[in-house]
Amino acid sequence: MDMRGNDPTNKGRYDVIVVGGGIAGVAAAVSSARAGAKTLLIEKCVNLGGLATTGLISWYEPLCDGQGKQMIGGIAEELIKLSVEYGLDSLPERWGGNRPDRKENERYATHFSPTIFSVALDDYVLKSGAQLRFDTWATYPVMDGSKCLGVVTESVNGREFFEAGAVVDASGDASVMDRAGVPCVLGKNYMSYIAHYYDTADAQKLMETKDTRVFRKWMGVGSDMEGNGHPEGMKLFDEATAEELTRFMVVGKQKLLERIKQKGKNNFDITTLPYMPQFRTIRRIVGKCDFPAIDGMTCEDSIGWCGDFRPKGIGKHYQLPFGALYSEGFDNLIAAGRIISAPQGDGWEVSRVIPVCALTGEAAGRAAAISALKGATMDEVRERYMEQVRVQAE
Ligand SMILES: Cc1cc2nc3c(=O)[nH]c(=O)nc-3n(C[C@H](O)[C@H](O)[C@H](O)COP(=O)(O)OP(=O)(O)OC[C@H]3O[C@@H](n4cnc5c(N)ncnc54)[C@H](O)[C@@H]3O)c2cc1C
Repeated sequence: MDMRGNDPTNKGRYDVIVVGGGIAGVAAAVSSARAGAKTLLIEKCVNLGGLATTGLISWYEPLCDGQGKQMIGGIAEELIKLSVEYGLDSLPERWGGNRPDRKENERYATHFSPTIFSVALDDYVLKSGAQLRFDTWATYPVMDGSKCLGVVTESVNGREFFEAGAVVDASGDASVMDRAGVPCVLGKNYMSYIAHYYDTADAQKLMETKDTRVFRKWMGVGSDMEGNGHPEGMKLFDEATAEELTRFMVVGKQKLLERIKQKGKNNFDITTLPYMPQFRTIRRIVGKCDFPAIDGMTCEDSIGWCGDFRPKGIGKHYQLPFGALYSEGFDNLIAAGRIISAPQGDGWEVSRVIPVCALTGEAAGRAAAISALKGATMDEVRERYMEQVRVQAE
């Protein structure tokens, strides 16, 4: 077999490479660059935001506990503000809470335009000093024992090698850490597929209100997050394979087509399709410790507090352990976002939403910068530098 072009071109050294430009990767790249590390963010699509934007989620879960207390600050707060800065949506004026005029279940959360937010994210990342590389797939980490020397990528340039002092895996599926040999666990997913649409009945409303949000209403087919609506007898999606991802997208679009046929011609349009599979949990690492999401849980290596977005989570408070972001025996590899070490159930549910992904991304970026600039392993970062890694709410 002729493997022409197999040798990668060496693209030089970065202190920190972040793989994946979803919310976690954006937060990691920005915090790493702000910590003084030469940082490169590699994204296989051509827009930032991951599931939040490319996956059309467009609802930023709350930064508060549902009882008026701010739980997460830092980059998560910067991003929620940026998500509505140029679009039509706006944030609640206050942090919810038990004031007399509080609406039921009012939280410090918001809808946002996924397209406008994504455009604004480029500028946000570049202003931090981090560099961007789009349309580039990080295929393999290059390991030397417990140390990651950098990542191999594929793009229109062919195969390239980016050397790194530390690598943040913010891929949403832990593919870098999995391929480095970090122990991982697969998630289980119901069939759910969400597109954006508008209805001609809304045209009148648009004339009256000028509210163009009618163009991006959710059309969800399949299941909600509890499994209600999962097609009877259909196998869960629980393998991180290209075949399963394809099955998910094909079944989702088949179900959407059925819905389109039911709605009838001339009544509506699908304005955007998701450009990545809307799996909630693909794969996560087995870390030094887990984040089980137990109310009131504290830990010595806390990176900060978070709340619980679910109605049943009102008033719940959790500290997130740094140990859930890395696995022992891997010196300079760290996870961010929905792939941290959190068991299926409450831990994974709480940690996979946008604000918590931003929190773990910010902490991972800081830790990666320290690891690269001081030559410290993640265990050493945990022992000596937690004050610099911790992200506190204001
Ligand atoms: C159906 C559904 C509904 C949801 N609803 C909400 C909600 O209402 N509110 C909320 O806050 N959260 C919600 N979530 C969860 C939330 O949107 C995501 O979990 C979160 O945005 C994940 O962020 P992330 O950065 O960890 O990963 P991702 O968003 O998956 O980002 C990973 C990025 O890495 C890139 N990438 C992957 N592999 C590579 C590679 N090898 N090389 C280069 N780039 C790579 C991908 O293209 C992607 O851009 C929902 C999720 C789903 C599926």
